[in-house]
Amino acid sequence: MLFKLKIVFQWLKLKSRKVFSSQEHIEVYQQKKLQLFAEQVLVKSPFYKPYIKPHMDWNKVPHISKATFMDAFNEINTCGIKLNDAMQIALDAETSRSFNQELNGITIGLSTGTSGKRGLFLVSENERALWVALVMSRVIKPRLFKKQKIAFFLRANSNLYASVSSSLFEFKYFDIFKPLTDLLQELQTFSPHILAAQPSLLVDIAQAQHQQIIQINPNQIISFAEVLHAHDKAFISQKLQASITEVYQCTEGFLGVSCQHGTMHLNEDFIRFEKEWIDDDKFYPIITDFSRRSQPVVKYKLNDVLQIKSTPCACGSPLLALEKIMGRDDDILVINEQKIYPDLIARRIAIQTNNFQNYSITQIEQQALEIKLECEEKDAAITQDAFKKAITELLKEHGIYSVSLEFKMQQVRVPGNKLRKIIRAI
Ligand SMILES: [Zn+2]
Repeated sequence: MLFKLKIVFQWLKLKSRKVFSSQEHIEVYQQKKLQLFAEQVLVKSPFYKPYIKPHMDWNKVPHISKATFMDAFNEINTCGIKLNDAMQIALDAETSRSFNQELNGITIGLSTGTSGKRGLFLVSENERALWVALVMSRVIKPRLFKKQKIAFFLRANSNLYASVSSSLFEFKYFDIFKPLTDLLQELQTFSPHILAAQPSLLVDIAQAQHQQIIQINPNQIISFAEVLHAHDKAFISQKLQASITEVYQCTEGFLGVSCQHGTMHLNEDFIRFEKEWIDDDKFYPIITDFSRRSQPVVKYKLNDVLQIKSTPCACGSPLLALEKIMGRDDDILVINEQKIYPDLIARRIAIQTNNFQNYSITQIEQQALEIKLECEEKDAAITQDAFKKAITELLKEHGIYSVSLEFKMQQVRVPGNKLRKIIRAI
């Protein structure tokens, strides 16, 4: 019950907040929040504490990559949680597929993200309450006096998402590890008002509706975790007869949401976005999330390429508007007409091994995958075996047995290019 009260509290706080009138207004607000964040949160982080005395010197604070974020895990978090303890809990949860593990009251999640390397994230109950309140106030369309059923398709369950059921909402979690036919059947039975999933799955669901395999009537569709391409958006919206809200969320935070005009606006009232420019209108975001407390995300560089919208959005919001999120455009492997989602492959590999710098998996023929692997020479054999195990097991689960795997030990990353982990080249 306490958790629900926390959500209501956060929700009321969000509702009572002043609306920003301009970018300048946001800037002033951010500076105030960043100062408080340093004094109240970063002071408890052994990693950031040295930068605070006597005054927070943001210019000296280093940019951080996912690798550093994990290497300095013990020093960065403010809860005294050790990486090894947390990793064990996260991996156990992943194999047993029961996701109720906590440590010192903190929920632990495992992520693979776009790099394919293991990442751990920590979320306290207060942070979860804020997340839910944010989703409720910004993403979900209100329907007064009627319980909303929300179907949520996720890579892995976590307390972060599963803990909300109330008189207003009923969440049902759909495990995307299950075969699509099972998921469709469950979806039909549940018959949600709101459908939230990654675009590649939304396309499958829309296709099933088109083929009259299912008949659902959602009022709203929420797309997250992958780039939503315009043609997919139109197809999904048309077949399911509902509008699409796009959520820009990653392990590192709830970064943005699309408005009623379909424009993605960044959540600059929680996160400061510094820009590492690529050209005139494209940049890599470097984020500082001043709403996080247990595991501060400070000057963290994301691999997503964001393109700024050149004209103001008709909705009038001063929050930074994007033309497009250009990154995260992973491909899906298609073998024997079965789709294998990139994040599923990456996750399986991350569970088997962490013994590599980089990899890419390219489908070069209908039944052949080429795996480029960058790792220490002494680890080559054992890492190849781990990859083989992860991939063949996953394919077997999809009824696919005859795919050849060809390994190439070589540098994967091309300087200046974004690393694409999973590529369908046919
Ligand atoms: Zn807008």
